[in-house]
Amino acid sequence: MPSEAKPAESFVEKPKTLAELREGIISGRTKAVDLAAGYYDRIARKNPRLNAYLSLTKERALSQAARVDALAAKGEPLGVLAGIPVGIKDVLVMKGAPATAGSKILEGYRPPYDATVVSRLEAAGAVLLGKLNCDEFAMGSSNENSAYGPVRNPIDTERVPGGSSGGSAAAVAANMAVATLGSDTGGSIRQPASFCGVVGVLPTYGRVSRYGLIAFASSLDRVGPFASNVRDAATMLGVIAGHDSHDATSSEAPVPDYAAESDKPAAGLRIGIPAEYFGEGLDPEVGAGIERGIAALKAAGCTVKPVSLPHTRYAVPTYYLIATAEASANLARFDGVRYGYRSPASENLAAMYRHSRDEGFGAEVKRRILLGTYALSAGYYDAYYLKAQQVRRLLAEEFLRAFAEVDAIVTPTAPTPAFKLGEKTGDPLAMYLADIFTVTASLAGICGITVPCGTTRDGLPVGMQVLARHMNESAAFRVARAVEAAKI
Ligand code: GLN
Repeated sequence: MPSEAKPAESFVEKPKTLAELREGIISGRTKAVDLAAGYYDRIARKNPRLNAYLSLTKERALSQAARVDALAAKGEPLGVLAGIPVGIKDVLVMKGAPATAGSKILEGYRPPYDATVVSRLEAAGAVLLGKLNCDEFAMGSSNENSAYGPVRNPIDTERVPGGSSGGSAAAVAANMAVATLGSDTGGSIRQPASFCGVVGVLPTYGRVSRYGLIAFASSLDRVGPFASNVRDAATMLGVIAGHDSHDATSSEAPVPDYAAESDKPAAGLRIGIPAEYFGEGLDPEVGAGIERGIAALKAAGCTVKPVSLPHTRYAVPTYYLIATAEASANLARFDGVRYGYRSPASENLAAMYRHSRDEGFGAEVKRRILLGTYALSAGYYDAYYLKAQQVRRLLAEEFLRAFAEVDAIVTPTAPTPAFKLGEKTGDPLAMYLADIFTVTASLAGICGITVPCGTTRDGLPVGMQVLARHMNESAAFRVARAVEAAKI
């Protein structure tokens, strides 16, 4: 171990629950400004090694904390997140704060408005600490594609935290925030949650506004929370979910009290186990962890039965066609004119576009723009993009058939635990293939959650993915609570 490396344990620290912290603030025992200052101290100590935060929003955080304290002192009613320190993935915009999306091309960009989820968190009393590192434009599974350096996994700093929301997962695992927001297009909340041993929620497509989310693939992108326990994650979702007139894809369905829903016992729920998620390529220790989780669900009174999802094997190519096609369109707006980086050495406008994009985008983003542009080009559209949309439909239908028989489906979140930094960077295809268990729900639009489900012999977290049908987050929360309570 290199001499500057600290023992891994010093980075992992379980935060108090959100409800406990809020109770302290309402009663006046804890001052929100002191809590925020404490979190900034921890960030100052841990972030140099972990690289989870890219920028801090201290002034805004401390004035919000002071506002919460003033309300508490007057005995005014406080929001459900009163004084709670929260971190925001750097693909979501906060007015006046840097928003890089992990890319050099957005260097220096200061958005003029707040994402809807940011406004909703603050309206509920949250104290927003800063912006969290991620893979460039959320493209990746290890955080190694960030232009600002990789995030390290707090459990073992020689390993990746997962991606693309690696900073959001690591910040919660290291208690550099009580909860965070991430985005998930093909697994970017669920997989890093699994690698870092925290809870991550993929809300149903349309459940949470994407206004102010820097787009990757618009038919797949979702925003969701990370927390150290299921109830806190449910509380966070309750705050950010709901219709937003700024996002035409956001649903008008009423928002349940997710925290209360998560308190309901899982007994009686029917759980489906798809054999397709337990075959070749699954690390045996991950498989064993999930088996223990399934046994715990049986013990909690759930019924368990097999379900069949035979199109799973087409999901990775389908996802990488649709996601890259949409990305190639979304990323066309970054050309050095309107946002961020502009190459200084350009003789004319065309050269300025070319150089800005060439110098501003990283290798993985360029690869995806090329793949996506190819898939959409005349003559190939029907063979690739259209075909992928048809397979997507089959995948969605097969989930719906399964959900006619079960309330939730449980699977491993990822085929392996967190891997070593640098282990997969030379082989993009191997990196893509490891997304096999998460891209299916992304394509189908259904919701899910990752909940910690034991560890390997080396102490690396195993994450269980609990999937539920559209708008049935409550079922996923109840199942995840039962797994959490079993302390596997
Ligand atoms: N790992 C997947 C990808 O690289 C998913 C990323 C995401 O969900 N944003 O596309």
